[in-house]
Amino acid sequence: MSNDTDTILIIGAGGQIGVELTLALRKKYGNENVIASDLREENPLLAGTGAFVLIDALNKQQIEEVVKKESITQIYLLAAVLSAVGEKNPLFAWNINMQALLNVLEIAREYKLDKVFFPSSIAVFGPTSPKQNCPQHTIIEPTTIYGISKYAGESWCEYYFQKYGVDVRSIRYPGIISYKSAPGGGTTDYAVEIFYEALKNKSYNCFLSEDTYLPMMYMEDAIRATLELMDAPKENIKSHRSYNLAAISFSPKEIAAEIQKHIPEFSITYTPDFRQAIADSWAQSIDDKEARQDWGWKHEYDLATMVEDMLKNVKI
Ligand code: NAD
Repeated sequence: MSNDTDTILIIGAGGQIGVELTLALRKKYGNENVIASDLREENPLLAGTGAFVLIDALNKQQIEEVVKKESITQIYLLAAVLSAVGEKNPLFAWNINMQALLNVLEIAREYKLDKVFFPSSIAVFGPTSPKQNCPQHTIIEPTTIYGISKYAGESWCEYYFQKYGVDVRSIRYPGIISYKSAPGGGTTDYAVEIFYEALKNKSYNCFLSEDTYLPMMYMEDAIRATLELMDAPKENIKSHRSYNLAAISFSPKEIAAEIQKHIPEFSITYTPDFRQAIADSWAQSIDDKEARQDWGWKHEYDLATMVEDMLKNVKI
């Protein structure tokens, strides 16, 4: 439950999820109690909604200064290098994804923070994991540097909980679809781009093949899941490693067909690139029964309602 003294720091607040999570947390906790930060200058969508500071997540001292000055009680760590960008520069991705987390976990331990949020990803699953309804506990052998770094991150979270009692909570987000802030270089980005191209050009050349099924979720659901996980009573949180989280699973062909119901002249072509191999290594659908059991997770948006809402809100 939230209390009067919750003060939140969001690291990586200018990204696709960060912007919307910052706005949602400000609505819930009050603008003055949620500090947004990023390596980049303030995202215009956050302007005027609350405090913003420049923080490099690799710089522990910078994070620490804000934690002390603002008496921070919770950190949401969103800064990361995503799957497609990570494959182009693996050591860079590993360095940011690991060091940022270690900085935050150490600060949480030293300053006895109440809670930490760490977003993991369905990218932890690899070719040896079950493709359909992939369970939370299964073979986890990721083959992308992004997946490797997220799985190592989950293990660090569990370690800090077991060893130091840090209440760190985590979700394995599927591909997130949204219209406010642009996605940051993931393999599921096609499911956002397709709306802009459908509205602008009535056609889209997809970088994945037509039958590539991937787990996806509308941003509204992802934000609500995050708030519900962080709000759940501590005794309900049975995993401090990470929770599977699911909503919908579809292929480029299926989302194109759904868009055609609204824009009949829309057409799609397929030119798979290096991201096809990343997508092929992941599970196609996810079993999230633990999230549903432990903290009451329930998704609201299906493919049809998500597509309808995106087409209503995307501005070109
Ligand atoms: P994004 O790339 O859109 O945003 C990341 C933000 O972090 C950017 O604003 C970037 O400037 C900032 N950043 C990068 N390096 C930084 C550093 N050293 N210090 C401070 N800030 C830095 O990513 P997103 O899509 O918003 O994802 C947020 C989190 O959720 C990430 O951890 C990502 O791995 C995870 N996730 C996202 C998705 C998705 O579909 N968007 C799916 C699964 C998991």
